[in-house]
Parts: sequence; structure tokens; C-alpha cells
Amino acid sequence: VNNFWNPIINVGNFYNSLVSGAVYLERVFEMMDVKPQIQDAPDAYEMPPVKGEVVFRDVTFGYTEEQNIFEHLSFHVKPGETIALVGPTGAGKSTITNLISRFYDIKDGAILVDGMDIRDVKVQSLRKEIGVMLQDTFIFSGTIMENIRYGNLEASPWDIVDAARVVRAHEFIQDLKNGYRTVVQERGSTLSAGQRQLISFARTLLADPKVLILDEATSSIDTQTEILLQEGLDRLLEGRTAFIVAHRLSTIRNSDRIFYIGDKKILESGSHEELMKKKGHYYNLYRTQSKLLKKV
Ligand code: ADP
Repeated sequence: VNNFWNPIINVGNFYNSLVSGAVYLERVFEMMDVKPQIQDAPDAYEMPPVKGEVVFRDVTFGYTEEQNIFEHLSFHVKPGETIALVGPTGAGKSTITNLISRFYDIKDGAILVDGMDIRDVKVQSLRKEIGVMLQDTFIFSGTIMENIRYGNLEASPWDIVDAARVVRAHEFIQDLKNGYRTVVQERGSTLSAGQRQLISFARTLLADPKVLILDEATSSIDTQTEILLQEGLDRLLEGRTAFIVAHRLSTIRNSDRIFYIGDKKILESGSHEELMKKKGHYYNLYRTQSKLLKKV
């Protein structure tokens, strides 16, 4: 059972399986408060497992009646493609990812996953197929093993170690005094920013969503860790469609396509090389804000 977003719905199950459930519940409800409730259509059906094709067809959206963030936005992402979303702050990069998970409904047009309009399926079944990795990696008080298992509560210890190996988290965990049994605190400093991210990679691998949304952290980490994270991320992205609100040049370069968002639409799309040759928005962003695009 994929459990990435499920805890929000399956609070009961989750509570039973967790030692420090109380703290956790608080966080779950915090998230419920933040995100508006989307109602299933009366005849909504269960979304079957998907390949991960994502299509925006002429999408118009705004958080308010008066103002639109996007107008007539269209794109087609094939299963397995990695898309880096770049552009000025406030352009709407996170909004695109919020719409894919259907945290908000659009005003006009359609969003399709494997050809299914996301308004026609049960929202819970949609979110089973979509893994969301937030910028601030979510660590709760408990062991590292429990923190990874959160991705799939039915995972065995062997599954967990396997997942950690794949995304390059195993090595540092093994080096900790108590290994996978090391207890970490929600806001503690047992783990570095990079290590927290590796944990979330392992957790997401266990959840195994076909579509992955990643809000890349801007916090600076050393080059060694960055290379490790890039390796782990590459493994995690294999066979998944990904939308990354990207800040690192290495991530952007490794993506299949870059969407440069601005003026309520996609102003440019293409690979790093293609967009550099264009000498347009992306080129300017890269040239003038190369500090924001952290180089490796
Ligand atoms: P980016 O990720 O490119 O920085 P966002 O998608 O976060 O941009 O935001 C796009 C615009 O929508 C901004 O003007 C922002 O203030 C606004 N916005 C974002 N989230 C909300 C919200 N929940 N309610 C109202 N306005 C929002």
C-alpha cells in the first residue's frame, strides 16, 4: 500500500502503527488545515495504477476569482520524463505542482493523468499515484527505520534497507552508532540536511509513486553530499514522471526538459543546452542569477 499521502486519510491505521503518534497526528492535522478540502464527484471512480503521463489542456487557474495565475496553459509530459520548473519567484511553479495533486480545482480546461481527468477520480486514489516531497523534509520523532517505513507501512525491514541502498542512504545510516535503530527528533539536529533528504528519498522509493513532485531545497550543502544526493535522486527518478521546482544546476541539467514559467504561461521549454542557445529568459536567469542555480 502506497502511503505517501494516505496518512492524511488513513489517520487511524497510521496512529496504531506509530510509537510517537500524538506528535505526528498534530502535523497531519496541520496539513489538513492548510490544504482546502476537495470533494469527490458523486460518481468519482478509483484511479487505477498509472504509467505517469501528465497533460495540461488549456488550463486557467487563479486562487481568487479576480486574478489568474495561469491562462490557457497547455503541456504534455510523457511517462518517465523529468521536468524542471524554473522562473521568477511567484511565477507559479509550486502552483503547477499543487494542481497536479488537485489541491485546488481549475477554472477552465482539464488536467489529465494517463488520459483521466483528475476531477473524475477519487482524490485519494489520485494522490496514491503522486508522491510529494516537500522542501522541508519531514522527519518525525522515532527511529530511522520508522521514518523510512512511513512510505509504506507494510514494508519489511529488508524492504527498508533495500530502499535505502538504492538511493544511497544506507551507507550513512550504517555508520550511525545504532544504525537503523537510531532515534531522531522531529526538529533535532541528529541528521544533516543532506541526510534528511536521503531518508526522504528512501521513504518515497518505498511509496513507489509513478508521478513525483519535488520542491528542491535551497539550503546549501557541501559538494560531496550534493553529488550523493544527485545519485540518489537519479535512482529515485528512474521509471517515474517528475516535476521538480529546481534550484540546483545539476538537477536542471539532468532533467529531460526545463519549463521556464512566467507571464501566466510557459515562456520557454527545452533542455539546458537548447535554452542556453536561445539566449532568452532561461539564459538570462542562468547568467544573472547563477548564484541561485547552485553549481556543482
Ligand atoms: P513560485 O512557486 O513560482 O514561486 P507560486 O506558485 O508559489 O510561485 O505562487 C504563484 C502566485 O500565487 C504568487 O503570486 C503567490 O503569492 C500566489 N499564491 C500561492 N499560493 C497561494 C494561495 N494558497 N492562496 C493565494 N495565493 C497564492
